[in-house]
Amino acid sequence: MKSTFCIPEKSVISIILFSIFLVGCNEGGSNTQSQPGYSNPAFPNSETPPENSYLEISPERVVDPSDAGPITLTFKFETEVDRAEFWLVGNLRISLDQIGKYTWKQDLTHSQIFQNYNAGDTFVFVGYCETFVGSSLRQRLNLHLPVRSDLMPDVDYTILSSDMQISDHVLNLRHDELLLGGSTISFVWSAIEDSVQEAIGIYDYYALVGQVNAIANRTGGSLLCFPNTTFFDLANKGAVHELGHGLGLAFSNHPLIANYGHWRLGNAAHGIMGWADPSAGGQGLNFPYWLETNNVEGTTKLWLTEQATEFNDLELYKMGLLTEDDVAPILQFSDQEAAVNWMINPYSLESCGINCQVIDIPSEYITIDDIITLDGPTLPAAGTNITVGTIVLSRGGLLNSDEMAFYDYMSARGEGTEPVQVMEGFSVYEGKPFYTATRGLMTLSTRVR
Ligand SMILES: [Zn+2]
Repeated sequence: MKSTFCIPEKSVISIILFSIFLVGCNEGGSNTQSQPGYSNPAFPNSETPPENSYLEISPERVVDPSDAGPITLTFKFETEVDRAEFWLVGNLRISLDQIGKYTWKQDLTHSQIFQNYNAGDTFVFVGYCETFVGSSLRQRLNLHLPVRSDLMPDVDYTILSSDMQISDHVLNLRHDELLLGGSTISFVWSAIEDSVQEAIGIYDYYALVGQVNAIANRTGGSLLCFPNTTFFDLANKGAVHELGHGLGLAFSNHPLIANYGHWRLGNAAHGIMGWADPSAGGQGLNFPYWLETNNVEGTTKLWLTEQATEFNDLELYKMGLLTEDDVAPILQFSDQEAAVNWMINPYSLESCGINCQVIDIPSEYITIDDIITLDGPTLPAAGTNITVGTIVLSRGGLLNSDEMAFYDYMSARGEGTEPVQVMEGFSVYEGKPFYTATRGLMTLSTRVR
C-alpha cells in the first residue's frame, strides 16, 4: 500500500482530491523562486483565472455547528468549466451557480454541512465538488471544511492596527495583495516579513496560512506554508515532518540510507520523514512496513505496521538528540530500485503469517558507524526548544472571534505533550505533536505574545 506524505499538486483543496494519507511537503518551498513581478489575480471579482483554484467559505472561513444559517461555498477555478456540482454525503447532488467566468457558488444548509460531523472534530467531510467540461468529469475535489468545535475556547486577542491583531498563538495579518500558494509564496513572505518580525520577533520557523483554501501544496523549510487551511494543524504529522526538514533531515551520503530529504527504503523510512520515489518528484511518502531478516537468501520479511508517528532513532541522532550508541543497526533493502518498483507496483508475495510477507529483495544492516564514516558525526543539538510563529493571512478585514479561536487552537496544539486525534483529509489518526514525536527530547513553543 502506498501512501503519500505530500499532497499531490492539483489534487488537493480544503479538500484534497484523492490523497488519503499525506502529511505534507514540497521540499524547499520557502526558497522557491517566483517569477519576478508575478501577481496572482485570483480575486472573485476578476475575470482572470487564479494560479491555483481555491475555495472560500462565508460568512466565516471556519464553519460553526452552533450557527444555524446557510454557508456559502465559492469556488474560483483555474480554468473554465461547463458545470460544477456538489455531490454531498447522503448522495444529494446540487448544482453550483456560475457568477463569473471562473467563479461558481452555492449555499448549503446547516444540516447539509454537518450531517457527517462528530462533536469535537476539527474538520467535517461534506462531500465532493465536481467540475465538468462537456459531459466529462474534469476534477473531483474533496470538501473537508474546518470547524470551530466545542473544544476550541474563545481566545483573547488584541487589535494592533487596522491590518493586524494578535492572540497567544496567532498573528493575524490582513494582506489583500497576493493570495498565498504556488509561485506567490516568496512574494507574500517578502511583503510581510518585516511587519511580522516587528510584531512578534524572530522565530526559528514561521507557519503561514493563506487567505483562502487554495489547491496548492503545503511547503516546508524555515517557512511552513499552508495555502489551504485543511492541513493546518501544528499537531499533525505533516507539520512535524516539515519541522524535521527544517532541522536538517533527512540527508546522508550512504547510498542505502538517504534520498534527498527523505530516507531510502527500509527501516530508516519507518519514521517521520518516510521515503521518496525520485520519479514522483521526491515527495515524502509513508512507509508502513518493518523489515526483518529472513533465512532464505535474497529475501526479506516485510511486516505491515501502523504508520510511524515518532521520529526514529536515526532521525533523532541526526537531530543531535540521541548519541550514536543509541542507534541500533538499521535493516535496509540492498536493491533500492527493486524495492521502489515493488512499492509503486506491488505484486503478491508469499505469506509468513498475519501481516507478514516474504519479499524477494535482499536487505542488509547499516550501522551508525557506517553512516558516520560517510557523513561525519552529528553534534549534539545546540538547544532543545524550537519556536514556531503562526501567521494567518486574511483579506478584506481581520479574522473574527470564531476564526481566531480555530487558528489559535490549531497552532497551540503544536505545543502538545500528549497524543491527540488529528484529521488530515480522510486520514484520521492519533497524532503525536512535536514534543511527543521526539520522545520528549525537544520542546516546541508556538506562543507569539
Ligand atoms: Zn518531506
